[in-house]
This record gives sequence, structure tokens and C-alpha cells, in this order.
Amino acid sequence: MTQKRVDAIEAELRKPYWAPSDRGLRQSFWKAREADRRKTARAGCAAAIVVYIMFSALDVFVVPDVAAYTIAARFAVAILSLAMMEWQFRTNAGADVLDLVCASGIVLGFLGWIVPASFTIEQSVGEYYRIYGAVFMIGANLFFAFRAAVALTTCLSILLTLSATILLSGQGGTVQSLIFGSFYFSCFFFTSYVAMKLENERYRAFLNSYKANLHQEETQAHGQALLKLSYTDALTNVHNRRSVDVKLHEFWSRWQTERRSFAAILVDVDFFKNFNDRHGHQQGDRCLVEVANSLASVAKCADGLVGRYGGEEFIILAPVQTSAAAESLAETVRRTVEQLGIEHGLRRDGHSVVTVSVGVSYTRSDSTTNLERIVHEADRALYAAKSDGRNCVKLFDPKDPNNDDMNETVAALLKIAVERGLVSLVYQPIHGVESGRLEAVETLMRLRSVDGTSVPPSMFIPVAERMGAIVTLGTWAICTVCRDALATGLVPVASVNVSAVQLRNPGFAAAVASILMETGVMGSRLALEITEGLEIDMDLVVLNCIADLKRLGVRIWLDDFGTGFAGLSWLRMIEFDTVKIDKSFLHGINEPKGRLMLLDIITLVRNCGPRILVEGIETADQLKFAQSAGLHQVQGYYVGRPSALSEIVFLQNGKKSSTS
Ligand code: C2E
Ligand code: CA
Ligand code: CA
Repeated sequence: MTQKRVDAIEAELRKPYWAPSDRGLRQSFWKAREADRRKTARAGCAAAIVVYIMFSALDVFVVPDVAAYTIAARFAVAILSLAMMEWQFRTNAGADVLDLVCASGIVLGFLGWIVPASFTIEQSVGEYYRIYGAVFMIGANLFFAFRAAVALTTCLSILLTLSATILLSGQGGTVQSLIFGSFYFSCFFFTSYVAMKLENERYRAFLNSYKANLHQEETQAHGQALLKLSYTDALTNVHNRRSVDVKLHEFWSRWQTERRSFAAILVDVDFFKNFNDRHGHQQGDRCLVEVANSLASVAKCADGLVGRYGGEEFIILAPVQTSAAAESLAETVRRTVEQLGIEHGLRRDGHSVVTVSVGVSYTRSDSTTNLERIVHEADRALYAAKSDGRNCVKLFDPKDPNNDDMNETVAALLKIAVERGLVSLVYQPIHGVESGRLEAVETLMRLRSVDGTSVPPSMFIPVAERMGAIVTLGTWAICTVCRDALATGLVPVASVNVSAVQLRNPGFAAAVASILMETGVMGSRLALEITEGLEIDMDLVVLNCIADLKRLGVRIWLDDFGTGFAGLSWLRMIEFDTVKIDKSFLHGINEPKGRLMLLDIITLVRNCGPRILVEGIETADQLKFAQSAGLHQVQGYYVGRPSALSEIVFLQNGKKSSTS
């Protein structure tokens, strides 16, 4: 659009001056000068009137006999023109009207002087005196800046009147008339020529500055578009992460200086990877756009903003007065997305539409809070929402012991854990039900802080998963198990727990392969436990990793079976070597319903083929149940507590010698 206008201007500038000009551009030219022309017309009118009145003195001197008439006419024209001008100016008349007032003032002024002056008895003096008619032409063409047509008409009427007076007076000879006539005509011609040239120059200057303005506007628009682009997420058109960081700083400084509290709401689309796999990436993108739009509308109503924080993670920043208001806004967000009704088939939690998990944090008068922390807290709340079954809202609770500073300490600890020897392994025996012998051990990780106090896995494992440290820790665990427990032949088989993060980490299977090679351990002696409770999206990345591990001969065990939604579908997808039934089922067998349930689960798993292990054997009765139910392996405090490798081996040897 801008380029079109620039092209039109350039074409106009190239035109010869006699060619008709572009109507639109001409109009813009006059419009651009409108205010200036109005002021000039008014000031010019006043100045011209002063000079016109001053010439009364010359009338008295040159044509004294008719001076009374010329002076009366001068005053009449002056008063009339001045009154007209002021009236039109004050009623906001346009510049064209004001120019017309000036032009008619010139003609009237000229007539008011020339007509009475023509009746002077001093005819030859009067003839010379008429030369001043040229002054009126100069005024019309050069003193004012009329449009060419107005200037020309004014000048022409003066020229014609002057010519008429020459003819009518009939005085003087032909030569004299020729001299005066040609003088008037030359005045008319040259002043009109200069006036047109001036107008043309002004028009060209306008065109050049118009072009420059358009270029500047275009550059500015470009700059603004670029700026917007650098702050906008290309897919969803909401703020990108960089922009969110800037806005977060703004919200934070308003909170610091004016105590204007706000909420940080993290929103994560549930099972999005699964959505992408099922519906395709295009649909996935469309889903994100729809979710982003709905979040944007909720945020707008709350005077806040929405940004894309990661792949399927969004953040809303909005001013709120109380934590309850923050929670209610988050609930609106959750409900709004659910109500979009975007189909998300075959979800393992029973829902059939796209939903979101929401974590909320709000500003508190708590000296320990800082800018990074508010997002960190929302992140933790989001994690809690996901662990709580998703499609729900969790508000960060500073009083929750899980949310205290301990997590930060743990995170710091994990960074130095391997290198400072703060992490260690214990092994829990797994016995064969039939053999009653140690058939395997489960490896469990332990962490102690620098002062020696131990940190429970329930605390450090989630932190390690969140910060990614589990990848290093997990590899370290596999390496240590292979070296200490398997390569030494102390135990026949060892299982190690692996997190979803590890299975998604490219190169995990390769790392396991190289550990097996370095330690010379057969893959079949290593088992990896995948926890069903973890919401792993069984996409291609994970499935390929499992297939690679299986090719190495590594056993894959399904841990905590029955605690999540995924177990059954995983059983169909993956050939597990062993399924570990979660201890909660065993602990419920005192109730007939619980007992029946466990028996049903056992039948179900048995039909799928893998070996069955039951966890949490704490009593002799429970062990008896396991034996009667025909299970393959047992694990629990009754069978053996997690302990150091040497202890397990010692106990094992003790058992052997006591039985032999
Ligand atoms: P898990 O894999 O289900 O491990 C079994 C947990 O149950 C262990 O807790 C163990 O001490 C406990 N346990 C064993 N027998 C009994 C029993 O008879 N009764 C009861 N009430 N509990 C029993 P721990 O060591 O606290 O580990 C907790 C969780 O931490 C583990 O659950 C596992 O999910 C995770 N974890 C431990 N080590 C690792 C690791 O190296 N990597 C990963 N990714 N996770 C680990
Ligand atoms: Ca386990
Ligand atoms: Ca378990």
C-alpha cells in the first residue's frame, strides 16, 4: 500500500510541469497547507489593507480633486474586507474561502481606487497613476499564495479593467496606449508565470516531504512489526518466553514498589505428546492455538497477559488481590479449556477432551520470595496438579512441608552428589516364591546431605527428575550396580529404577550398552524398573528406547502395577519380563474385597505372560498368601530390608549355611 503511494508520488515528480497533476495528491497538497494558508490569508489581508489605506496620502497628492472619493472607497473596501475576513476566519471557513475573500478584496480595492481616480481632471497624471494597477496584480500573484486559478482570474480581471480604462479614456496617443498596455500585459504575464512556478515548486517540495514521510512511516511500521515479532510466539501469537520475562519483571517491580500483587499461573496441556501422536502434529498445533486463544481471553478479562512458556506450557500473569482470587482465576482457565471440547480420544484417564493442569503462585508478604521464585512456586504447584491426576488446579502452599526450602537445598545437593560421594545404593532382596532363595535385588538410591543426615528418596527423586539430575544419577546407579553387585557375581540379577526422563534422554540405551560392555555383565542380569505411577507418555521415543534395551538383553520390569491409569495399555504395548504388583494391594487383603481384587489382578497379569512379583511382604501371612496365589517372586521387609550389599551377601550366606 505504502509502496503504491510512493510510486504515484515518483510518477508525479517525473511529470513535466504542464501535465495535469494527480487529483488526490493535489488535494493532499492543499490539505497539508490548509492551516498555514488560513493564517497567511488573514495576516496578508490585514497587511495589504494597511498599505492600501496608506496610499490615501498619494491620492491626496496626485489626484486631489477625486481624493475624497478614492479615500472613501478605500475605507469602505478595507472595512468590508476586514469584516468579511474576520467573520469567515472565526467561523472556521476553509483556506479556499479565505483566499476568495482576499481575492475579491483585491479586485474591489482596485476598482474602489481606479474608478474614482479615472474621473480626475488631471487626465495625464491619472494615466500614470494607473500604473499602480500593476501592484494589485503583483499582490494577487505573488503577495498571496492563491491557487493558480484564483490568482489568474484576479489578475485577469485587473488587466481587463486596466485595458478598458485605456480604451475608454481615449486620451494619449496610440504609442502611449501601447506602452501602458504592453506594460500591464507584461506584468500580468510575468507575475502569473512566477506565481505558477512558485506553486509548482511548493507542490514538488510537498511531494518530496510526503515521500520522505511515507518512507519513515514504513520504516517505523517495519520496526514495530519486527519488535512485535521478537516478542510474540510464532505459532500461537501470544507473548513468547522472552516477552514473558520482561512482563514478569514489570509485574514484580510494581509489586515491590506499589504493593500491587499478582498471580503467576502455569498451564500445561495434559497428555499433549499423546495428543500429537494420536491426532498428528497439525492438529496438535491447532490445539495449542485454540488453547492459547482461550487463555488470552481469560487473561484479558483479568487485565493480565498470556505467554507460551514451553512446548505445551503457558503462563498467565495477572493482577489479583488475594490467593483465593488467584485460585479462582486459575479454575476459570481450567474450565474454559475443558469447555472448548477439543477431542482427545483414548486418554488413559477416561477424559475425552483436551484438559489442562494448572499451578498457581501469588505474591506474598514473605521476605524470602523473589522474582524467580514466584515462577518456581507455580511450577511446583503445577507438578502437584499433574501428580494429582491432572485436569486440576493447585495453588502453591508455602506451609506445605514439601514446598519448603528443603527442595532448594536438595537441588543444590544433587548437583554435587556423585562427585562428593553423597549418593549411595542399598539393595533389597527379592526371593523366588518356590525356591525361597535370593533371586535378585532391587537397587534403591540413598542420599545424605553434607552434614550426614539422610534425605528420603520421596524427596530427592522428584527434585532430581525435575532438574534432570536423574540422568547422571541413574547412569551412575546402573554403573555401580553392574560393577559392585553383578560383575562381582555377588547377586544373580539386580534391578534398577529408571525415570521417564532417563528413557526420553537420547543415548540412554547406548550408555547402558557401554556400561554392560565395560563391566562384562550380561544384559539379562540387569533389570530396569519402570514405574506405572509415573505418567510416562509411551510415545515412539520411549518405545524405541525400551526396544533397544531389550535388544541388549536387559530385562524390563513394570513397577507399582495398579497405581496408575497406564498399566493395562502398557501391558499390551510392551513385553514386560516381570510385573511388580504394588504393595497397597497386598496390604488390602485382610478385607475380602481387597483379597478378591488382588487375585483378579494376578489373574489378569498372568494371562499377559510376565512373571509376577508382589511388593511389600511384611508378615508371614502375606508370604503365605503369595505362595498360595502362585506368584513368582516376593519382596518386602519380611523377606529382607534394603541394606548394604555386603550385608545382603552375608545374610544370604548365613541362610545357605543354616539350611545346609
Ligand atoms: P519403589 O521402586 O517402589 O521402591 C520400593 C520402596 O518400598 C522402597 O522405598 C523400599 O524401601 C520400600 N519397601 C520395601 N519393602 C517394603 C515393605 O515391606 N513395606 C513397606 N512399607 N515399604 C517397603 P524407598 O527406598 O524409600 O524408595 C522409594 C521410591 O524411590 C522407590 O519406590 C522408587 O520409586 C524411588 N527410587 C529409589 N531409588 C531410585 C533410583 O535409583 N532411581 C529412581 N528413578 N527412583 C528410585
Ligand atoms: Ca522399584
Ligand atoms: Ca515398587
